[in-house]
Amino acid sequence: MPVLETIRPLLHMEASAAFVMLFWGNLALFVLVQFYVYVASSANLGANGSFLRRFAIARGIQAAAWASLLVFRGDGVSPLLVAGVLLAIAGLYAESDALIYVSSLESGKKRTIRAVAITLVSMGAALFGVSRAFAGTRFSGPLALVALLFLLFSCFLGPVALARPESSAIRKLVGLSALAMYLSAAGWAMGSGELFPVAAFRQSVAQDAFRIFLVILTLSGGTGVLILAKEEVDLRIVELAIRDPLTGLFNRRHFIDRGLAEFADCQRYGEEMSFIFLDLDRFKKVNDRWGHRFGDTVLMDFAALLRLGIRPLDLCCRYGGEEFVVLLPRTGRYGAETVANRLLEAVRSSKFPERLDFSYTVSAGVSHGVPQSCGEDAFLEMISRGDEALYRAKAAGRDRVVFWEDPV
Ligand code: GH3
Ligand code: MG
Ligand code: MG
Repeated sequence: MPVLETIRPLLHMEASAAFVMLFWGNLALFVLVQFYVYVASSANLGANGSFLRRFAIARGIQAAAWASLLVFRGDGVSPLLVAGVLLAIAGLYAESDALIYVSSLESGKKRTIRAVAITLVSMGAALFGVSRAFAGTRFSGPLALVALLFLLFSCFLGPVALARPESSAIRKLVGLSALAMYLSAAGWAMGSGELFPVAAFRQSVAQDAFRIFLVILTLSGGTGVLILAKEEVDLRIVELAIRDPLTGLFNRRHFIDRGLAEFADCQRYGEEMSFIFLDLDRFKKVNDRWGHRFGDTVLMDFAALLRLGIRPLDLCCRYGGEEFVVLLPRTGRYGAETVANRLLEAVRSSKFPERLDFSYTVSAGVSHGVPQSCGEDAFLEMISRGDEALYRAKAAGRDRVVFWEDPV
């Protein structure tokens, strides 16, 4: 095949060249990521600090492994060569462990059990490496295969955990590229002749491809991991921007963004929508009498009742101080009345262990209907009507639900 012959130089990489690049590339990643973790403040990195540190250490181990495999290659099975192979496995495994860590799938205890089990099997592989030195041992081949497959399987846990369907795009990308990296390493090891004498594999184009893939994926993996860490920070910033720090509910800005979309949806399909404006009764007195700290506890209690009292598709937020709102898409008067009354009842019977003699109430104003236009003005009009109804609930004695269309 002339085409293949023409591009053949592009598909060729000497084993020693691969070792050199893997050594320097991993060393550079080790130093760069460690340096990044060192200079970036812990506030910027959050929980990613320890993930990046684990990743950097894994790359440091891999650099040591490739160096020793390069230096001690070629003079038969020496203990240093066996050490190199074990270091390579340990390095890949440490990276897999870092990926499991960041995918936060396993508890600390489970990870410890797994690490111990895998260390034991690594010992088995090490023993095999030594037994290879006594050529002709009958069990060396199959034993090695089993040990290596087991280790390989363990290394796949991290990338698979990261690439699972519900992960973000960048996590999937990092997981899949790590998976391909392990497969390339395994392919190269299988055909290298030093671990397994699989003759057909040696010196083939496949061998070159495994080497080239391993080098590329090893080097690009570092970039993916840094972007992944950045994504975590971005997610944290987004959370801070859309939530109220005291109650953990959405804030007004996010409520308006999401609410407008729901509003437009109901308008398009001609469906009814309800809005409840809630305000804690005489809350100033609660603060004056029991102190602001207890006032905050009451606000958190109400937020918890609110979360429990609505369906997952409903949208609630802390609108301001002691004011909360709920948007009920595809819900009419009857549904809104049920939700509002259930909430008021839950508030009436809420108890505080630190102040058994304390109880509080809340008032609600409800507006509802099929949105006639989908603009922001119509949405804000619905909120104003809820506010107006709330004002009437207060005037009528508080601790009650009033509908905007009810006669004044
Ligand atoms: P009404 O029944 O008419 O609503 O009376 P009210 O006292 O609840 O209403 P007012 O608007 O006079 O007072 C609201 C109070 O809510 C005053 C403010 O100090 C308190 N507040 C607002 N935000 C917080 C908060 O984050 N923590 C605490 N502890 N209090 C807050
Ligand atoms: Mg109030
Ligand atoms: Mg108020």
